[in-house]
Amino acid sequence: MCPIRLLMRPGNHLLKPLKDRQTSLFFPVMITRQNNTVPSPPDQAAAWLHTAHKVAALTGAGISVGSGIPDFRSSGGLWSVFAPEEYATIEVFYRDPGKAWELYRALGKTLNGKEPNAAHRALADLEEMGLLHGIITQNIDNLHQQAGSRKVFEIHGDHQHLQCLQCGNLVPVTPEHYHTTETPLCNLCTFPLKPNVVLFGEDVRQLDAIHRFIADCDLLLVIGTSAQVYPAAALPSLVYQNGGRIIECNRERSLPDSMYTESSRRAALFLQGDLVHTLPHLVQICRRK
Ligand SMILES: [Zn+2]
Repeated sequence: MCPIRLLMRPGNHLLKPLKDRQTSLFFPVMITRQNNTVPSPPDQAAAWLHTAHKVAALTGAGISVGSGIPDFRSSGGLWSVFAPEEYATIEVFYRDPGKAWELYRALGKTLNGKEPNAAHRALADLEEMGLLHGIITQNIDNLHQQAGSRKVFEIHGDHQHLQCLQCGNLVPVTPEHYHTTETPLCNLCTFPLKPNVVLFGEDVRQLDAIHRFIADCDLLLVIGTSAQVYPAAALPSLVYQNGGRIIECNRERSLPDSMYTESSRRAALFLQGDLVHTLPHLVQICRRK
């Protein structure tokens, strides 16, 4: 309502005590509202992306669900069919590589032919715009790279190569590897080849490089992961303790409440929803700013 009209209404007199004057010529409604306006989470996230010095993203299974790849840990996921302790440990591979290959062929059927979705493409767009400087992914599906992301740390390896634990040979996977029941052998030393994915009991990959990369990040996007499993679990805390901010993009909030506590600055922000919608929306806002 126009401030003049408000002044003319009974009870809206300029001589009223200051605290009671919600509106006046000197304290118009619009200014009061602007000062109290809290940006929407996507607007706030876009502002943070534009002002951050170095931005990293940590991604997990949730970002590939939109590409038709179920979370291995979900009901009906890979781990409910192939118990990890029976198929997916490094001890099992050394003892009975054929077991690991049963799992790997099933994994291949799950991953082959899958395409990146709008959430993967949104992260590639952010990198293209200079607003994202690298992705640390727990996924092995190669969809970030297919979407156009260039700097990707794959902490759990990739499903496109086979490795020899004896001589270090690394060979590309071919369709024949999925169609035979034989365990493929290294062409250099005849040791059984292992899928180039990190099995339980093996070290994760590129951890030193990731720590160097994240050391000076002042904004971390946590996307499609509950970040409960080490080393992914340590990364949000690392950025937070260094004074950085976190944007969590998930269906449900999973980071510790302490990160969301209001203080002199808002340390963490939650973008709730389906990633194939929330991330492209964030990119749209960033383009407008
Ligand atoms: Zn070899």
